[in-house]
Amino acid sequence: MNASTIADARKQLKNKQRVVVKIGSSSLVHKSTGRLNLPKIEILVREVADLRNQGKDVVIVSSGAIAVGRTAMGISRLESLKQKQACAAIGQVSLMMIYQKFFSEYGQTTAQILLTKQTMLDGESRENARNTFEELFSLGVIPIVNENDTVETYDIRFGDNDRLSAIVTALIHADLLILLSDIRGLFTEDPRRNPEAAFISEVDQIDDRIRAMADSSAGSDFGTGGMATKLAAAEIATAAGADMVIALSEDFRILHQIVSGEDVGTLFRAHPHEFFLMDYLEKM
Ligand code: GLU
Repeated sequence: MNASTIADARKQLKNKQRVVVKIGSSSLVHKSTGRLNLPKIEILVREVADLRNQGKDVVIVSSGAIAVGRTAMGISRLESLKQKQACAAIGQVSLMMIYQKFFSEYGQTTAQILLTKQTMLDGESRENARNTFEELFSLGVIPIVNENDTVETYDIRFGDNDRLSAIVTALIHADLLILLSDIRGLFTEDPRRNPEAAFISEVDQIDDRIRAMADSSAGSDFGTGGMATKLAAAEIATAAGADMVIALSEDFRILHQIVSGEDVGTLFRAHPHEFFLMDYLEKM
């Protein structure tokens, strides 16, 4: 792919109207203490509020409930599912409280949507979720989504918010999904093991070569998703007609850069084909 085609694809990101932004747990907390990094979250909120001010519909898919709940309770190791689920219940409200506080300072209203795989598998519940998103958009509200970890089972759950954010993208027909975490994007190999690994700025189509790169590419130190879940998300989002960008969350001002078409992170270009959300959900 030549440089001008890449530049064109990037420029088109300016015109995206419905954007899903996924934030990983490690992007929201201080590494040293596991507590919320408030100035950082405030920058995220300012950035997202500005996307709304530009007239775009925006959704945040935020991880962090379990991490925040665990830190609040001083639990260093999660031993059981019920402990994890209790931590999610504790952390989810703390997270929402902070989001709500910061967003209201920027004149925005937020809503919480907690999804489960079980409810997404049910046609009527899925339709209701979709209608709720649409209604929230028409009210100008910013939905903040997480998995409803408290009621999930080991067998039936999304398990990671990378995939969940792609499912949400497909559900609401968003045209851009942005995954922000401690992974800069796709490399030909793991750059921590091979300093010669090359960075891939754009993926036109996901094929076996790209899948092989993702397998050997960097994993995250925190949260659930590594490159494998990010690629799974890309497969869903691009098939559903959305572009997807993976980028570093170190400085959330990167959101501005992405949406104004700068060459940051890895862009996976939309490849819409006949796409049945249900089929993906059943296979997951
Ligand atoms: N739903 C989990 C939480 O909020 C996070 C899952 C993930 O990190 O992908 O803690």
